[in-house]
Amino acid sequence: MRIASNKLSDLIDFFYSELSSVYSPEEIKLLTQYACKHYLNYSPSDILTGKNENINQSDVIKLYDCVLALKQNRPIQYILGETEFYHLKFKVNPHVLIPRPETEELVELIIKDCKKAGFEDPDILDIGTGSGCIPIALKKNLEDANVSAVDVSQEALITAQQNAILNNVTIMFNKVNILTEEADYSLENYDIIVSNPPYIAKKEADSMHARVKDFEPQIALFVDNEDALLFYRRIITLCKKHLNAGGNLYFELNPIYAQEIKQLAIGCGEFKSVNLLKDLSGNIRFLKAERND
Ligand code: GLN
Repeated sequence: MRIASNKLSDLIDFFYSELSSVYSPEEIKLLTQYACKHYLNYSPSDILTGKNENINQSDVIKLYDCVLALKQNRPIQYILGETEFYHLKFKVNPHVLIPRPETEELVELIIKDCKKAGFEDPDILDIGTGSGCIPIALKKNLEDANVSAVDVSQEALITAQQNAILNNVTIMFNKVNILTEEADYSLENYDIIVSNPPYIAKKEADSMHARVKDFEPQIALFVDNEDALLFYRRIITLCKKHLNAGGNLYFELNPIYAQEIKQLAIGCGEFKSVNLLKDLSGNIRFLKAERND
């Protein structure tokens, strides 16, 4: 397990020879591109034209370590310490979930709804913010919005705050455990409440890839088998007190619980409409509920 020389072509060969037992060639190509961009600032075309260049020793070591970590299934976003979400850069670490493309769709939906309704300065709350990807992307695109976000994890909030600074926006972050009565008095009133809470039942873990279940925060991924709707039920209840009349609730959800969550929202009797929406892969992934006027 060594690299033949410091030439870029030998480094690339090393990626393929070490990783082919764990990733497909297409995945290796992408991983190589991400790593070369991050450590060498080489674009994909720089890689093609620079194959004969010699890479300095300290960068070779970084790329070598990156390959070893990838081989152990560590997600590339954690290795590099950053990712992109909604065209913005975010720091990520194992205290926060890696933002997903589905969540970009959720953000897009909220921005479109606000723009369509001419609603320029809504008060928005994101529950279980993790990296802060949702509130930061919303604030970046709805400049006059007042955006707050809560999480139970202090480490996640530190990361989220760093991401707000990185993206030059002001978000009010608070440490709140929404499952306790602390939420009843620490939350205010909002026009929009959004959440992508933990939604994978522990019994589903067996069918998940090690890259996700062994590295991403368990607290952000999983809920107990016995009560997979815990967060949804609680947030719907919180809406009675904290979602303004005419305001909207948005959830990201697990398709297998979509109908049950919809019934919970309808059953609460506070919403004039409750709709499930599909993601780009065709799975039911979101709920939008409009509160009575
Ligand atoms: N809201 C964050 C996200 O969408 C975190 C979600 C979570 O940790 N369950 O990525």
